[in-house]
Amino acid sequence: MLRIDIISVLPKLIESPFNGSIIKRAIEKKIVEIHFHDLKDYASNKRKQVDDYQFGGGPGMVMMIEPINKCIDSLKKNRDYREIIYMTPDAEILNQKIANKLSIEGNLIILCGHYKGVDQRVRDKLITMEISIGDYVLSGGELPAAVLCDSIIRLIPGVLGNETSALSDSFQDGMIAPPVYTRPANFGNMNVPEVLLSGNKAKIENWREEKALERTKKIRPNFFN
Ligand code: SAH
Repeated sequence: MLRIDIISVLPKLIESPFNGSIIKRAIEKKIVEIHFHDLKDYASNKRKQVDDYQFGGGPGMVMMIEPINKCIDSLKKNRDYREIIYMTPDAEILNQKIANKLSIEGNLIILCGHYKGVDQRVRDKLITMEISIGDYVLSGGELPAAVLCDSIIRLIPGVLGNETSALSDSFQDGMIAPPVYTRPANFGNMNVPEVLLSGNKAKIENWREEKALERTKKIRPNFFN
């Protein structure tokens, strides 16, 4: 079973994406286990302080190293972790390849930043991997952590009902997926492509490949570089 520990100052912020749909099912099937940790529980002073002003001055609070260190330490005492990940905009951007890799390797710790981010020494000494979800800045790492977890969990064998379903998604084979249709076959003057109704498996497969190629060339021409 894959275990993911998420460390945050606002764990309430990310619990809901784990309470429905595919992720919930994966948790119920005991394929994955998610644990949330409130950094404030690891604060060393009575005020439960987890952030402080930055040295050198300037706006924005910085998350302190001590509570983070204490939390990670207590987790590592109990089991091995493959990666200790910090969600941060100034890192390699998440893609399907990274999600695939993380879905098979082992337990993960994910640290969510807030405010100005974490003390650099956390990144230098405690973190083994950094991931961004795109070139824009959010207020906290909670949504990025939920995005990362979803991308990983749906790839674990047994999570998706139809085992082949993740394989035919975009990016999995370096291509954008072909368009999909369902009933009704005619809606106003918009008809579903004839070939999809033909029942001819080989023809349908060819059509899908053609469309995937067409769409990839248009939407992600860089995939062919
Ligand atoms: N001062 C930082 C931004 C901090 S944003 C900078 O200029 O780079 C606060 C927190 O939100 C970060 O610590 C990180 O955990 C999270 N975050 C914001 N945008 C993100 C993104 N695109 N990907 C991953 N995490 C992000």
